[in-house]
Amino acid sequence: MRTHKILHGWDLVRIGVVDEFELDEDPRQIAKRLQRAGVVEHFNHRYALFTLARRASGDCHYLNAKTRRCTVYERRPDTCRKHPETLGPRPGHCAYRQKA
Ligand code: SF4
Repeated sequence: MRTHKILHGWDLVRIGVVDEFELDEDPRQIAKRLQRAGVVEHFNHRYALFTLARRASGDCHYLNAKTRRCTVYERRPDTCRKHPETLGPRPGHCAYRQKA
């Protein structure tokens, strides 16, 4: 499933790829570093929003291809916590997981 996960800086801190003190830095520098690391695929300068990288399959960077579970479930971004709005995913599973 090809979806975009839009993250704020604090999501990146929670995931553990950005130190909370780094949030004081120019977010463009953070974005560049995370793009090189393959974590972020796009950065919206105007709103300081990061788009989480996807693999060629369209899977999220943090989705385990074999188990289809989120590898950062306890630290997942807010957008994943809120999706879907009314019924959350089974614990450990991706909120955006395509139904079989
Ligand atoms: S729940 Fe995990 S695997 Fe799914 S989109 Fe969010 S971070 Fe990626």
